[in-house]
Amino acid sequence: MIHSEHQRRAYLQAMGIDVWLPRDAEEAAAAAEVPAAGLDWPALQECVAGCTRCELSQSRTNTVFGVGNPQADWMIIGEAPGAEEDRRGEPFVGRAGQLLDQMLHAIGQSRERVFIANILKCRPPNNRDPKPAEAAACRDYLEQQIALIQPKIILAVGKIAAQNLLGSDDPVGRMRGRPHDLDGIPLVVTYHPAYLLRSPSQKYKSWSDLCLAAQLAAERSA
Ligand code: URA
Repeated sequence: MIHSEHQRRAYLQAMGIDVWLPRDAEEAAAAAEVPAAGLDWPALQECVAGCTRCELSQSRTNTVFGVGNPQADWMIIGEAPGAEEDRRGEPFVGRAGQLLDQMLHAIGQSRERVFIANILKCRPPNNRDPKPAEAAACRDYLEQQIALIQPKIILAVGKIAAQNLLGSDDPVGRMRGRPHDLDGIPLVVTYHPAYLLRSPSQKYKSWSDLCLAAQLAAERSA
């Protein structure tokens, strides 16, 4: 009995039969071969480090798994690595990262205490938005990180993170300011720190989102 697409393709190849798949199907098949669900933290890290699920694996310097405490109460989820993050293999290390650190500091948290990850583990070239197929290919890595960390609160920073996590097309302005639910975990949406650098007048809204997130996290701890 052939148990998986991987085995079926191996069997056909062993018989000398070429298996041609359209590119999207090929990516989906590759992604399906090593599901992240059920992996422990080191296995998940290893899987991400060697990922070839999408074409971003060809242009990246480093995968960006995430940084912080794997037992964190707070999980911060951004969009995707930029140039500096790709070089260093760490999320949010540029100017936006400095502002994120300040925002965390303001609520008594720090980069070491929370866990920071992105929708994508690899940098999209020229900092373009993630393509839906890339986000889909990367999704179960993030889901497994969330499953292992079991944070008390998720803070989605920016449109790409919020829309991907919540499956919504709404702008941040409509999603922020109220609690959402991600498979039983409270989730708060706020502006991306890169946007706040360009529009500092919006920082007060972000502060109120952080306070809401802190309140929801405290309720979960009670
Ligand atoms: N750096 C990241 O790691 N994520 C972002 O969303 C932006 C910058």
